[in-house]
Amino acid sequence: MTTLLRVTPLAAVLAASFYAGTAPAELPPFAGFGERVASAPLKLPAALPARLLSVPILTYHLVGAIRAEAPPITRALTVPPPAFRREMEWISRHGFHAITQEMLFAALELGNSLPPKPVLITFDDGYRDVLWNAAPVLAHLHMPATDYVITERISGRDPSFLTWPELTDLQRLGVEIGSHTVNHVALPYVDPRTALAQLVDSRGALERHLGHPAQWFAYPEGAVDRAVVRLVREAGYVLAVTTRPGALQSARDPFELRRYEVLRTTTIAGLAALLRSPGPTWNSDDSSS
Ligand SMILES: [Zn+2]
Repeated sequence: MTTLLRVTPLAAVLAASFYAGTAPAELPPFAGFGERVASAPLKLPAALPARLLSVPILTYHLVGAIRAEAPPITRALTVPPPAFRREMEWISRHGFHAITQEMLFAALELGNSLPPKPVLITFDDGYRDVLWNAAPVLAHLHMPATDYVITERISGRDPSFLTWPELTDLQRLGVEIGSHTVNHVALPYVDPRTALAQLVDSRGALERHLGHPAQWFAYPEGAVDRAVVRLVREAGYVLAVTTRPGALQSARDPFELRRYEVLRTTTIAGLAALLRSPGPTWNSDDSSS
């Protein structure tokens, strides 16, 4: 269980140039910040401990200009780059510490300590603008994050989604890659064999292309039930995020982590309120949705 986060001057310079809005058309090859060195897969403890931790997890989708012709849902899910930068700077300035998935895993399941005011920054769907508009800001502020990608859309026909080489670039800027299935399938509504294939195949594709274990998962549409949780575990993941709001995470339920969604309309005050709020009290009976 070793993740090495290396910061090289070149990566720092590159991040600074992005941050200043001078991004080049193509990322030059470089080795540096956030590059994860291959390691053995993580394992959940045989008996999941009874531990509750307050770790707010934020969900973003697109970080880019609002396009008037985009559907209302897309516009709602798009945070303009200046707003995103202000939000990350606010988080950083107010003593929050962005953590990695592995830090969350080790704290929740193994009892490791976390820095004060931990927060996990996540992106859903694998939109390309995360590389250009979000990752440089995060790298500049030394904030790790996670992007959950839909593997069949990677290097696919739609240029709004990332490519495989860009996923490697993202990792170098400190953004870890998780799975969001192969085709963005709402898992409770397909047969178990199809659901398991979505989980296993997307993880396999990520591991083949990235060269290290990929064990973080996000449910498309936030759709999950108990049967799906069992499949996610069977497929070899160790943490999975839902769309249920709240900051209190339960070690007994590593596949039902709670998240707060950040929208275009979420202000700094709104974000501050989310980060202060423990959210609804954890109740394991509400785990079917
Ligand atoms: Zn999604």
